[in-house]
Amino acid sequence: MIRGTVIIDKDLCKGCELCIVACPQTSLALSKSINVSGYRFAELVETNCTGCVNCALVCPEVAIKVYRKAKGTKKVV
Ligand code: SF4
Ligand code: SF4
Repeated sequence: MIRGTVIIDKDLCKGCELCIVACPQTSLALSKSINVSGYRFAELVETNCTGCVNCALVCPEVAIKVYRKAKGTKKVV
């Protein structure tokens, strides 16, 4: 099982919602507040992200970075 998370550069975001529609986990939503350009921006609102990368692939502003980690992975010394 893969766990993921995303970091969204809110000031690059134009609030187009493409990432929100593309997320199979419905992990993303638009913020209530606005960024420096006056757009509501996408935010991670759930903890169920799988790191599938769909959101990052569709973002026209390249505002999303995805991080993935195997769940329960033990550190190898
Ligand atoms: S990486 Fe996948 S599951 Fe995670 S927020 Fe993006 S689209 Fe959703
Ligand atoms: S696809 Fe990119 S620009 Fe559009 S709402 Fe998502 S993060 Fe913002």
